Amino acid sequence: MNLEQIASCIAGYDPNALPVAQAQEFIARLVPRVEAVEQVAIRSALGRVLAADVVSPIDVPAHDNSAMDGYALRGSDLGAGGETRLIVAGAGFAGAQFAGEVPPGHCLRIMTGAVMPPEFDTVVPQEFTRLEGEHVVIPAGVVRPGDNRRLKGEDLARGEPALSRGRQLTPADLGLLASLGRAEVPVHRRLRVAFFSTGDELRSIGEPLDEGCVYDSNRYTIWGMLQRLGVDVLDLGVVRDEPAALEAAFRSAAASSDAVITSGGVSVGEADHTKQIMKRLGDVLFWRIAMRPGRPMAIGRISIGGHDALLFGLPGNPVAVMVTFYAFVRDALLRMAGATPQPLPLLRARCTSALRKKPGRTEYQRGIVSRSETGQWQVAITGSQGSGILRSMSQANGIVLLHHDQGDVAAGDEVDVVPFEGLI
Ligand code: AMP
Ligand code: MG
Repeated sequence: MNLEQIASCIAGYDPNALPVAQAQEFIARLVPRVEAVEQVAIRSALGRVLAADVVSPIDVPAHDNSAMDGYALRGSDLGAGGETRLIVAGAGFAGAQFAGEVPPGHCLRIMTGAVMPPEFDTVVPQEFTRLEGEHVVIPAGVVRPGDNRRLKGEDLARGEPALSRGRQLTPADLGLLASLGRAEVPVHRRLRVAFFSTGDELRSIGEPLDEGCVYDSNRYTIWGMLQRLGVDVLDLGVVRDEPAALEAAFRSAAASSDAVITSGGVSVGEADHTKQIMKRLGDVLFWRIAMRPGRPMAIGRISIGGHDALLFGLPGNPVAVMVTFYAFVRDALLRMAGATPQPLPLLRARCTSALRKKPGRTEYQRGIVSRSETGQWQVAITGSQGSGILRSMSQANGIVLLHHDQGDVAAGDEVDVVPFEGLI
């Protein structure tokens, strides 16, 4: 089945007014997962996608140990009321276990992390105690049996799943793997993503800006967003609006990558050749999405010599490029890379101004989130929201997400904001 046939099975499918959620759902079903796996050292695994579950081979911690500097004792030695006096039999330090037997009525000086000898179940912190000759004196009520003991396996028990396949490894995960003694982990190979800009009006940095031309900025925002996703990138530059140049670019991009991202040339009534070449080389759908900014987008597959690459034809306007990337491409690439993308965390913030919003499309307004004097989150819209005004994106620290069915927003209403932190 080609994509047109698959898409026409979606209830109420209308390529000219496609809700964002429907487009996202369709793309999620379309993307294949990269199967190739490589073994890497844990420090090279930061941000990579784990290709297999990691099960703990050991108990972490491996022994019961002390959570405090103090004295290890038997809970049963603690007096019912009044002080407890115990003889200090010796000392145990982290990494150096006390070897001898300790009879009842005795205790052991113990340091944080030191192994608890089996006869002890309790640690009294040293600041609650005083020494009198060879005795330590513990006032009533400062410790109960079982206090300040870390149990063997309380972090992770042997055989327990520690990390699941599809997880993008974080600094905490690297530490967790190290705590299991793992030197290497299997990860999915990095995705390769090729991209280029289309449009005769585009000039690259270093070229003179001829009359009526603009510098190509999309290749830089796309490059930056791809870097944050941890994929390998192939930048094919600005491609002129000529069939032969476009065909060569699509062929070389698709042949050497898992996904191809282009910007420009997909709007309705676009005079240039981009859409024609996409149609000819691939199985491609042209959408007008019910969103702002954004709207035109092409999605499909290009098959070159038996190798399939996913195609994202993004709109040309610089803000629309970033918004469509975050709305559609980011999750798709994460899925292809083997990850299980989680919904982005949303912040509820009070909008400082009224916003006009038509129900029936998703809007992404650029906002500056801050804390009000009363400690509540508030968001102010960054000036003009034109889809060509990249400064609105640069000034913003988040996107105000106005949902499909939502209408006008009054000043002081709460809105959903996607913070850029962690996203961009
Ligand atoms: P298009 O979708 O090709 O009609 O482009 C829409 C608008 O975005 C036009 O004003 C283009 O000049 C602008 N544009 C397209 N591609 C780029 C780019 N790579 N960098 C900056 N502006 C662009
Ligand atoms: Mg164009």
